[in-house]
Order: sequence, then structure tokens, then C-alpha cells
Amino acid sequence: MSRLTGKTALVTGSSRGIGRATAVRLAREGALVAVHYAANEAAARETVELIEKDGGHGFTVHAELGVPGDVHELFLGLDKGLKERTGDTTLDVLVNNAGVTSATGILPEDLTPEQFDTFFAVNAKAPYFIVQRALAQIPEGGRIINISSGLTRVANPDQVAYAMTKGAIEQLTLHLARSLAPRGITINSVAPGITDNGSAVFGIPEAVEQMAQLSAFKRVGTAGDVADVITFLATDEARWITGAFIDATGGTLLG
Ligand code: NDP
Repeated sequence: MSRLTGKTALVTGSSRGIGRATAVRLAREGALVAVHYAANEAAARETVELIEKDGGHGFTVHAELGVPGDVHELFLGLDKGLKERTGDTTLDVLVNNAGVTSATGILPEDLTPEQFDTFFAVNAKAPYFIVQRALAQIPEGGRIINISSGLTRVANPDQVAYAMTKGAIEQLTLHLARSLAPRGITINSVAPGITDNGSAVFGIPEAVEQMAQLSAFKRVGTAGDVADVITFLATDEARWITGAFIDATGGTLLG
């Protein structure tokens, strides 16, 4: 039997990148996976197709995060999809993965209040209220996994606002670990380093070579490298880990 047979999971931002790889792996372990997306419906459907090709089960859920009503819309779709397939709305695994980044960075002196608000609305506020809402339907043994970034541990001025949002999600992890433990629910942060998410920069060999040097393994991470870590945290084997910062940077933080 697979490690997540009979479980349900929501992976925000699983139309592509790390989220897609995570959705596919959780489904491979037997979970029914809600594949959330904002703009890329076709890509989200493709994730579900990948899941089904492996013999798994998934469905798409739309919600733009970081705007009024976002969590309500997300849970309307999630609950409908779960009820249709399982008869109730139990959610065993929540992966807060969706996030906005700035590939090239923004100079601290150029950052606008609007950009700052968008980073926080999508990367910090939405995960907080998704967790708050989800807790009514996460049972004993449930798992919450928040995707942070190695940038909370190394200084990069052009990414300060983004990194601040990831610092916030790590605090969400740390503090809620205490209140969720009595319910048998774990909550952890996973911090990827530079990870090939299929975006254009990963098609430029010189850029990839430069980025690869940051990892102790001298390569950029694959979405699967990170998804395997997330999947482990979702299983019963990770029951003794909570409130943790899990470095999934391929040794980038070793210095
Ligand atoms: P991608 O940029 O490849 O994909 C982002 C995902 O988030 C997409 O599914 C997208 O949905 C969704 N999303 C983006 N904005 C919103 C929004 N406003 N509302 C709802 N959904 C949204 O992500 P990555 O795989 O690169 O990153 C995944 C996570 O890992 C993020 O939290 C990121 O910060 C973190 N991370 C990534 C690193 C990397 O090098 N890739 C390094 C460190 C951390 P759609 O396409 O449908 O709009």
C-alpha cells in the first residue's frame, strides 16, 4: 500500500513548478489531490492528466490568491471537489506552495508599496488564512507544509520584500506548531534553493551554470528534488517533525 492511500491533499499553485511535481508525487503515494491554480487552467488540467496517467486521482480548483474573497473561492472549489469524490470535506495534507516572486529582483529603493502589498498578500496573508480556514477540516494526523525559501538565510537586497514574506511564513510554521501538536497535526516549512520551475531563465545554459555554482552539488534543483522532501513530510514517517525549517536548497546554505 502507498503511504498516502485514503488521504486527501491540497497543493496551492500546482499548475506548474514545484507545486505540480508535489501534486504528482502525493497522488503517486495514493492521495486524492486538489490541484490549485490562478491563471493557468490548461496547465492545472495537465497536472491532473499527469496524475491520472500514473493511475492517481486529482481535480482542479481555481482561486486567485491575494485578492478579497480568495480563501472563500478556494474552499468552495475544494469542498465541492472533495465531497463529490469522498463524501465529505476532510483535508489531510495542505501544502501552501503558491507564491509570487520577482525573477530579476527589485532594488530596495525601487520597491513600491503596491509591489510590497502584493508579495505579502499572496505569500504571507493568503497562506495564513488558508491555514485558519483549513483547520476546521484537517483531522488528527494532518499535515501542513509551508513553502519558504533559502533566501530567509542569505542576504540578497534585491529580494528583501519577497524574503520578508517567507520569513513570515516561517513564523506561521513555528508558532502554530505549538497549538496544533495537541491535535496531532504537524506544520513545517520547506525552503527550496534555486529550483528549475520551467521558466525561461532555466533554458539559458550560461545562467543555469552560474546558478548551479550556488549549490554544494553544483547543479540547480529540480522541482522533483523539492517535491520529494514535501512528500516525505506529508507521510506518517514524518510524524515526529513539527515547527521545523527544512533546508531543501541542495547545500546552498552551507556557505
Ligand atoms: P512557479 O512560479 O513555477 O509557479 C507558481 C505557482 O503559484 C503557479 O501554480 C501559479 O498559478 C501560482 N500562483 C502564483 N501567483 C498566484 C496567485 N496570486 N494566486 C494563486 N496562485 C498563484 O513557482 P515555483 O515552483 O518556482 O515556486 C513554488 C514555491 O516555491 C513558491 O512559494 C516560491 O516562492 C518557492 N520557491 C521557489 C524557488 C525556485 O527557485 N523556483 C526558490 C525558493 C522558493 P498559475 O500559474 O495558475 O497562475
